Amino acid sequence: MATIKEQFWDPIAGFGVTFRTMFKKVVTEQYPFEKQPTAPRFHGRHQLNRWPDGLEKCIGCELCAWACPADAIYVEGASNVDLPDGSGRYSPGERYGRVYQINYLRCILCGLCIEACPTRALTMTNEYELADDNRADLIYEKSDLLAPLLPGMEQPPHAMLLGSDEGDYYRGTTRAPGDTSEVGSEGTA
Ligand code: SF4
Ligand code: SF4
Repeated sequence: MATIKEQFWDPIAGFGVTFRTMFKKVVTEQYPFEKQPTAPRFHGRHQLNRWPDGLEKCIGCELCAWACPADAIYVEGASNVDLPDGSGRYSPGERYGRVYQINYLRCILCGLCIEACPTRALTMTNEYELADDNRADLIYEKSDLLAPLLPGMEQPPHAMLLGSDEGDYYRGTTRAPGDTSEVGSEGTA
């Protein structure tokens, strides 16, 4: 049988907790109507980056796929083609990533793939809305992952517009888009 304390004091104490909580700061987040910013280095959706002329940084080496503990990345590399008019390239190097997929049903957003990437082609954004109602849409293709074309960039395939070979891109000795002068040449004042 309930004691006097259990009958009278415990309900008052319980309502006391409710009463005190009414005046505390509300911590409920109104997601998805109000989105909170993530930490700056939050690991979200991946991005395949471009050089300033629009060429892709990915060289199709598959190191990201080998580093992935969840087997979430599939890469198929292919050789760039230098057409007679100088066009035909997707990346400055010998190879590029012809097929690139990330399966977000497997990915645990650990970031090991971006550590393995030798060209900083693969980085992660802060985007965290990676839910869907079917499996197929959670396998992101290269077109879903490629960075958008910014002003001054051209849609590949095209020629190397910033240097005479891939070394200029990797060493950072590139010229501005539209500048056709020899890379490394400096004018005299
Ligand atoms: S973040 Fe981790 S799990 Fe996701 S693709 Fe990269 S290595 Fe794989
Ligand atoms: S994203 Fe980086 S590691 Fe992965 S295939 Fe491309 S260049 Fe290689």
